[in-house]
Amino acid sequence: MTRPSGVPVLELTDVFKEYPGRPPVRALEGVSFRVDEGEMVAIVGPSGSGKSTLLNVIGTLDRPSSGDVRVGGYDIASMNDRRLSAARSTLIGFVFQQFHLVPTLTALDNVATGLLYRGVGPTERRFAAYEALLRVGLGHRVSHLPKELSGGERQRVAIARALVNDPAIILADEPTGNLDSRTGDQIMDLFRGLNDAGATIVVITHDRELAETLPRQVRVRDGHVEHDSSLKNNHALEVTS
Ligand code: ADP
Ligand code: MG
Repeated sequence: MTRPSGVPVLELTDVFKEYPGRPPVRALEGVSFRVDEGEMVAIVGPSGSGKSTLLNVIGTLDRPSSGDVRVGGYDIASMNDRRLSAARSTLIGFVFQQFHLVPTLTALDNVATGLLYRGVGPTERRFAAYEALLRVGLGHRVSHLPKELSGGERQRVAIARALVNDPAIILADEPTGNLDSRTGDQIMDLFRGLNDAGATIVVITHDRELAETLPRQVRVRDGHVEHDSSLKNNHALEVTS
């Protein structure tokens, strides 16, 4: 699937999400922001602020109750579930705190599973997987099983799996949450390098200190955007120009 160019990679407009219950929980209350190609953004907020709900909505794993979500220019609401699952693998590369690797598969095959929905043959899949592992500095660990890898190496495999489809966005949920701080810093350096090379990256975190190391922060609280550092910067630019 080719992606429209010149549109924001991600655009949320007045997104609400309500979970049914008595009373219902309003997890998102009018969230709007956009992410352009090549950006690296932290979505940061305390526990209960709506981060996981946002992750699910951005990641097209859940639909908003109302509002507009566009990923890679595609209107998520207009897609049926089958089209959405097909689109998801090309639009979004997920990286999770818990890595979510298949324990019985080598690093190479874990990464190659990222291409299962692309209709490419096994040889081509493995070649692309090897290239992705090279990009994350794991060319020497291709035939290791997850249990034979360190935490940082496992997360690199997961990042390679996210990269292998060349997705519109890499969406990382607390990617350093299971790592010691030094290894976590190395993973963030890896993300920075990928971003320098053109990848659009969204990191969801509760860690404000980590968020501050990224070029842009979107701060959420009680289901709404409390502060978006890019808007502050835009304003500053307007004032000084
Ligand atoms: P965070 O990830 O920032 O901790 P969440 O998105 O998980 O925040 O939760 C936001 C709010 O929505 C919280 O008040 C939470 O209790 C509520 N919530 C999350 N998931 C559900 C659900 N499936 N059903 C009902 N309420 C939920
Ligand atoms: Mg959460």
